[in-house]
Amino acid sequence: MIYIDTEPYRKKKNYFGNRTTVEELYFERILDKSKNLLDLAELKVFIEKNIPNGIGSNWNGEAVFKYLILLPPEELAKFAKIKYTEICNDLKSSQSEVVDDLKKVYTDYSILSKSIVLGKSEININQFLVRELGITVCPYCNRNYINNRGDRFAAQMDHFYSKDEFPWLAVSLYNLIPSCGACNHIKGTKDFNVHPFIKSDVEKNEVKFSYQQTTSDDVKVIISTTKVRKGDIGTIKLEEAYSIHNLDVRNMLLREEKYSKKYREELRQLLQTDGGIESQLSLTDDEIDRMIYGDVIFEEDIKNVSLGKFRKDIYQEIKKLRDY
Ligand SMILES: [Zn+2]
Repeated sequence: MIYIDTEPYRKKKNYFGNRTTVEELYFERILDKSKNLLDLAELKVFIEKNIPNGIGSNWNGEAVFKYLILLPPEELAKFAKIKYTEICNDLKSSQSEVVDDLKKVYTDYSILSKSIVLGKSEININQFLVRELGITVCPYCNRNYINNRGDRFAAQMDHFYSKDEFPWLAVSLYNLIPSCGACNHIKGTKDFNVHPFIKSDVEKNEVKFSYQQTTSDDVKVIISTTKVRKGDIGTIKLEEAYSIHNLDVRNMLLREEKYSKKYREELRQLLQTDGGIESQLSLTDDEIDRMIYGDVIFEEDIKNVSLGKFRKDIYQEIKKLRDY
């Protein structure tokens, strides 16, 4: 639902005297584990055979592997057109083996919970990724916090493209989406259409919150989006998740009622003649709204604000009802 900027993965930074990127550190760590386990030449043959125009013809095994591990989010779909179950019977055993082994790097070896050494300190790979991305709220639901707790990893890594159907993407960096346990668990092995790392896709398929008055004192949160996105939202049962926030909409509506146009004018007058002294202080409607609904309604960057998108959208809906 929320776009996550992955620029921090590609930005050169000083990691304890070593000027490098998250991508490089990640790849080195994966390669270090995989080079004895995987037949990279076989991997190249597999990709050439099954993913048309996936790689350059003159690349060696390691170049292919690096490309696969660091596939940009926009390229992932090209590698997820054909499912493993559809081709596994036609593969030579050496090719099935290399694909199975690549998945094992994630499952059996749990590569993401292994540490990365940065100077004198160590940090688990998954914690490192979430820390460097700087995200603290699940991008799928924009509700649950996923921040690390000390040395404990509180997020889960969702495979955007399932590691069972597309095992060759099991450890591809941009196929790993830090998410909350609930979203990851409910999504399971199902595939989403909109990738949170692809800005244009997220924007094109915006998830919009509004509400509907069901009875005189009850309201219901409504989520609308494009046809493409609807499936994603249904998969993680986002409407059900947000149904407990009907109450929040009601509270916002009650506030709106309380801070009516008349009330705002009284408030302004009160401030202007504070203690009998004429004051220059005057509040705009936006400033009053900020006091009523919180800063979040004007916040540009809501990726780390739980319910940020919901509050912003509902505020806009409420504002439409005003006659001033
Ligand atoms: Zn979530």
